[in-house]
Amino acid sequence: MNAFLLLGSNMGDRIAMLHEARVLLSAQAGVVVKQSGYYESEPWGFESATWFINQALHIETPLTPEQLLHTIQHIEQQLGRIRATPSGGYTSRPIDIDILFYGNDVIHTPALTVPHPLLHQRRFALLPLCDIAPAYVHPLLHKTTTALLQQCPDQGRATRFIASAGERR
Ligand code: AMP
Repeated sequence: MNAFLLLGSNMGDRIAMLHEARVLLSAQAGVVVKQSGYYESEPWGFESATWFINQALHIETPLTPEQLLHTIQHIEQQLGRIRATPSGGYTSRPIDIDILFYGNDVIHTPALTVPHPLLHQRRFALLPLCDIAPAYVHPLLHKTTTALLQQCPDQGRATRFIASAGERR
């Protein structure tokens, strides 16, 4: 199945973290068919000095949605995610992986909502997704990712991030 993931990191060597996540995803979740450029975005929903780097991936996976979720959570743990603040809510993280689309499936379980419910509200997700899937139609909103980006009200800053020579992988 074609699935689209969003990776985000705002701790440590962010580019290296995204690279490690891609390596682990290739080994555990399936073939990485396409990867977007890197985008740097300000933290959403909490204060932090360090901005996120985001990247979208198109993977071809043999896993079911539940298996894919389990696998990405395992990879987040492998990469040292500190799961949550005591009060819950958002926090800094070496790596965060979200499932944006799983084919055209619409999934609502306690553990999983696909398409990702905040995708169309977040420029930092739509920008990289449009890099690799500009004509992909959101299965619930029936609009392309490009149209969703044009209509997105999010004022959060997010721009293309050029990794320095040492960082580029
Ligand atoms: P977060 O801490 O923001 O990474 O959220 C992780 C939680 O969101 C997990 O408990 C997942 O079960 C849940 N979740 C629901 N829908 C999704 C999705 N589309 N992708 C990733 N996690 C999801």
